[in-house]
Amino acid sequence: MKILVLNAGSSSVKYQLFNMANNAVLASGMIEQIGEKESMAKIKYKDADDVEHKREQKCAIPDHDEALKWMSQALIHSGVIKDLNDLDGIGHRVVQGGASFQEPAMVNEYVMSEIERLIPLGPLHNPGHLAGMRVAVHQSPNVPQVAIFDTAFHSTLPKYAYMYAIPYKYYDDLRIRRYGFHGTSHRYIVKEAAKYLKQDVNTLNAITLHLGNGASVAAIENGKSVDTSMGLTPLEGLIMGTRSGDIDPAILFYLARKRGLTLDDLDKMLNKESGLKGICGSNDMREITQMAEEGDEKAQLARDMFNYRLKKYIGSYSAVLGRVDCIVFTGGIGENDSGVRLKSCENLENFGIKIDPLLNEMRSSDILQISAPDSKVKVLVIPTNEELEIAMETMEMIEKHH
Ligand code: AMP
Repeated sequence: MKILVLNAGSSSVKYQLFNMANNAVLASGMIEQIGEKESMAKIKYKDADDVEHKREQKCAIPDHDEALKWMSQALIHSGVIKDLNDLDGIGHRVVQGGASFQEPAMVNEYVMSEIERLIPLGPLHNPGHLAGMRVAVHQSPNVPQVAIFDTAFHSTLPKYAYMYAIPYKYYDDLRIRRYGFHGTSHRYIVKEAAKYLKQDVNTLNAITLHLGNGASVAAIENGKSVDTSMGLTPLEGLIMGTRSGDIDPAILFYLARKRGLTLDDLDKMLNKESGLKGICGSNDMREITQMAEEGDEKAQLARDMFNYRLKKYIGSYSAVLGRVDCIVFTGGIGENDSGVRLKSCENLENFGIKIDPLLNEMRSSDILQISAPDSKVKVLVIPTNEELEIAMETMEMIEKHH
């Protein structure tokens, strides 16, 4: 079975083609700067002899229609598919599924209209997903297509965890509540953790830490998400590359009154100019570590703040779960930054959490167990693979519907 995974944004489309017989990536690539004077289109694939090829082209790609045409031609020319009907399915990543989608959905007019209706709750992502989806349906009408929602894994949160303590009418009228994001990644790593620990996922209690440029934590009880740090939008929770995470909401009133900042200014400030970048000028953890090692105090402060916030969430989700079988680190920072792992779990022996400093420094492209042998809670590093999870869920949905 060949499944194509599409992640369409407002000005970019990322794609990966999987052979589901062995989960191998047959081809991958992206088209960026869609709609600009000069766009960049890329494909990477392996030929029958397993030799890797890459092709890049700079040209004007005005819209998603042309972007997907470029991708299809590139896939056909590379020989990984004969034509679009050679695809068994297309899986679309969708960030905001609101309360409407608790699991994957076969794409049809109704599903697309719901994704459109949810744009106010996902203004940065849903319009791009929808543009890509409409074009893919138009260009490949015979290929079954599935929408996979970042929010769906968190649809099991109990109401007392997803409600905000603001007037109830805003939940009734506007569906303001915690939705949570990165669900595909949290789901993937908890399944991988269960396999590694040889435990049924439906009995596994885990705290999963997705630490990339965006970052979130999930508390998982018996394989189901029961709390997560992102909220109505991906702004809440941990300190991120450019997002503030949790702050006192009254800061916004104070800034508006003192500095005359508008709603748009505040939105931009919290989403694009805050987080690690707001503290030390960089949103790239590798660069920040380097700066800190060279004595930059703000870079060190940014790291300390990042680790401290993370530790607070590990503590609070330990309390939420009571029994924690494992903590899983993933994402660019979680998979690579041993210092973040060590500091965020420091002095948590009373919670049953103890990292072995030597194991923590080991590197692996596979799963790494970094907890000390006497640690009650297993601490794992698991590379995430959201695209593969989307492909697997797409395949499951298609098999269910045929
Ligand atoms: P992601 O959004 O998952 O791609 O993660 C991006 C973040 O991971 C950035 O802050 C990167 O600096 C960080 N990152 C990637 N590789 C490393 C590494 N080897 N060490 C520390 N941080 C890394």
